[in-house]
Amino acid sequence: MAQNSTISLSASVESPILGQFLDNVHLLRLDLMGGKAPGNKAFKLRANLEKARQQGISRIVSFGGAWSNHLHALAAAGAELELQTIGIIRGGEQETAMLQDVQRLGMKLIMVSRQEYRQRNDPQYQQRIEQSYGPCLVVPEGGANPAGVRGCLAIANLINQQGRQWQRVVLPVGTGTTLAGLAAGLKSAEELVGISALKGVNDMEHRVKEILSMSELTARLPWNVLYDYHCGGFARTNDTLRTFMTEFERVYKVRLEPVYTGKMLLAIHARIASGQWSATEPILAIHTGGLQGRRGYSWLD
Ligand SMILES: *Cc1c(COP(=O)(O)O)cnc(C)c1O
Repeated sequence: MAQNSTISLSASVESPILGQFLDNVHLLRLDLMGGKAPGNKAFKLRANLEKARQQGISRIVSFGGAWSNHLHALAAAGAELELQTIGIIRGGEQETAMLQDVQRLGMKLIMVSRQEYRQRNDPQYQQRIEQSYGPCLVVPEGGANPAGVRGCLAIANLINQQGRQWQRVVLPVGTGTTLAGLAAGLKSAEELVGISALKGVNDMEHRVKEILSMSELTARLPWNVLYDYHCGGFARTNDTLRTFMTEFERVYKVRLEPVYTGKMLLAIHARIASGQWSATEPILAIHTGGLQGRRGYSWLD
């Protein structure tokens, strides 16, 4: 299972993509793992849902935008485990295919103003949410809490069990929760590299260290975050990204989405093409899923 979930990008490809082969890159296909909403969000939710179950709590409340992969995964897990789910949605957005999905999966939606949404990480606000909807477990936006980090240790274990030694393991970064779990759990890599999907956030190292210490875990390998591949900002795209993704999907027959995985693979491609990373060192890229979000981009099928 763990073996089959990793594919080599050298397989049956005769021409380079945009002038560069990616023969030394392998992909861990989390996009194929995790039921109705595959990807890293399913892992981040695992320990949170287990905690709810242990406490006898059957209602989970969380936060997200109208294309949130996190709420998508929460609604899917809720339907599977027969938990009630409530999504607090940042207002001012259109009805989306994602919001339709989660309602179909039984999630109750509460639209709040952008102003109220800004309080989502405020403990007092969360307490009020708990009073309004409790007994419930409040999970932060993106599943970014210590239970989320612990859930991602399972991704590290998948990689460790493959018994290969990687020069670099690379993944996209939003909150840094998944990166933290991998930093704490990976045994079989020289270095862990996160590609930030955000623009204007330059303290990701600090955030990762903070969530690691809140989780009472420590990094067991060197890790860092690259900030130059946001392509204009969170969920934004530019010509470079669109051209790269179109070529990548045509050549490798693996679908990406523009928010995270497209930018990560663009970064790997750019670093190898420029010689900053060797074209022969074994690199494992983590496909973190999120493919439901493709529906928000009309240039993708
Ligand atoms: C949320 C998400 C990420 C980022 O995960 P963090 O743990 O927040 O850093 C990466 N890829 C996909 C597809 C995601 O949905």
